Amino acid sequence: MSQTHSIAHTFERLQQTFQLGKTRTYAWRKAQLDALQRLLTENEKALCEALAEDLGKSQTEAWTTEVGFLLSDIKHTKKHLKQWMKPSRVSTPIVAQPGRSFIQPEPLGTVLIIGAWNYPIQLTLAPYVAALAAGNCAILKPSELSPASSALMATLIPRYLDGDAISVVEGGKDEAASLLELPFDHIFYTGGDRVGKIVMQAAAKHLTPVTLELGGKSPCIIDSDTDLATSARRVVWGKWTNAGQTCIAPDYLLVERSVTKEFLTLLEQEINRQYGAQPLTSPDYGRVVNRTHFDRIRGYMQQQDVVIGGQVDEAALRIAPTVVLNPDIDSPVMQEEIFGPVMPLLEVSSVQEAFDFVKRRPKPLAGYLFSQRQSVQQQMIDEVSAGSVCINDVMMFMANPELPFGGTGYSGMGRYHGKFGFDTFSHQKSVMKRSFWFDAAIRYAPSSARKRYL
Ligand code: NAD
Repeated sequence: MSQTHSIAHTFERLQQTFQLGKTRTYAWRKAQLDALQRLLTENEKALCEALAEDLGKSQTEAWTTEVGFLLSDIKHTKKHLKQWMKPSRVSTPIVAQPGRSFIQPEPLGTVLIIGAWNYPIQLTLAPYVAALAAGNCAILKPSELSPASSALMATLIPRYLDGDAISVVEGGKDEAASLLELPFDHIFYTGGDRVGKIVMQAAAKHLTPVTLELGGKSPCIIDSDTDLATSARRVVWGKWTNAGQTCIAPDYLLVERSVTKEFLTLLEQEINRQYGAQPLTSPDYGRVVNRTHFDRIRGYMQQQDVVIGGQVDEAALRIAPTVVLNPDIDSPVMQEEIFGPVMPLLEVSSVQEAFDFVKRRPKPLAGYLFSQRQSVQQQMIDEVSAGSVCINDVMMFMANPELPFGGTGYSGMGRYHGKFGFDTFSHQKSVMKRSFWFDAAIRYAPSSARKRYL
């Protein structure tokens, strides 16, 4: 059977399962969430090893950002699932009385989840936790750029989860193209905007709704009135975790000129503290995913004023935490999403200049500000449009399942995490129930004075 044929066959099988109603019950969903939890706990070592192989992630990083993240996501979901599944009652206007109205969340059907390589397990399974909780069947397509994680998920999932309701299709562009031919009930894509457009175009053929979790250049503004040392520590953590290959990593810094020198010194000290004097050999520091990305990121340093780092280990695909000072705005490092361990630092004369700079550019996935001034913090919240805004820290909003996660404009559409994920994979069906005992004739023809009320 050809690959396209077998993908279509898998899709039909999942559709049939959905039609039978198996995935709709609370008991099935709960049992599957339990099974996924077991998959993660019983295979923690193998999962961390796959992440080390694909991205050189340390065990701590693999745990906190992938396996542990998923376990707490599942725990939160299990805790609230019954409540989320309940219909919510709403009021009914006088014209529809006597009657009752409510909103009943219902699963969409069979959905497609296309994952990215930078957090290959989290970004494939976290959307699945939401899809599963909402009672859907799903095909998962992990990224081919993280082959060890992809292969491990393809092996483990059929061992733990209900094979009638989930399937993993491994592969790249061709397999993705075959999948995109099918009339899924929802497509959830994580990756860059170029492929995001391909996904959306393919989805349009079947009027399939999409969630696009994309990226962009997330700015980080440093006000002179801030705790510079703590700011530097948090920026270093957020930028250089996973060697900068994080969709919500601060992409570039906008720093008030009066504190640039001090901030650079603090950044350097902090890099040293977190990764040692030789970050290229630090077991806590990840590597770039492949040669293509390595060459792309190294290119960002060319003809720039490299003020921190700049060392590379070509054979190991490692690039040290690097800061380039005041690059030209038209240079690739300021035109493209960096998605790697190079950080441009642009000096600005005021935070107002920084806000103006950010507002002139496409809406990013995250916007960061370090400032002790309430008015500046409020200005950031009110004026800067981004998927998420975080004040005096980076990336930590990911740890709160009560907050939606997703982009806006060029950084994507739709959202997930916690209840927001459940809602993304549910249709909010409106239901009205009427009774027969009273029937006002006013709405029926004829609409004249001849009308009699019964
Ligand atoms: P990638 O190369 O892993 O691609 C993502 C997925 O798209 C993969 O599964 C891949 O097989 C598939 N794909 C590739 N070409 C395709 C095609 N022609 N048709 C259909 N599918 C295709 O990921 P990437 O694009 O290198 O990821 C990096 C980008 O993803 C960055 O922009 C980053 O900011 C963004 N990202 C966003 C999030 C988020 O949650 N918003 C998370 C991680 C990464």
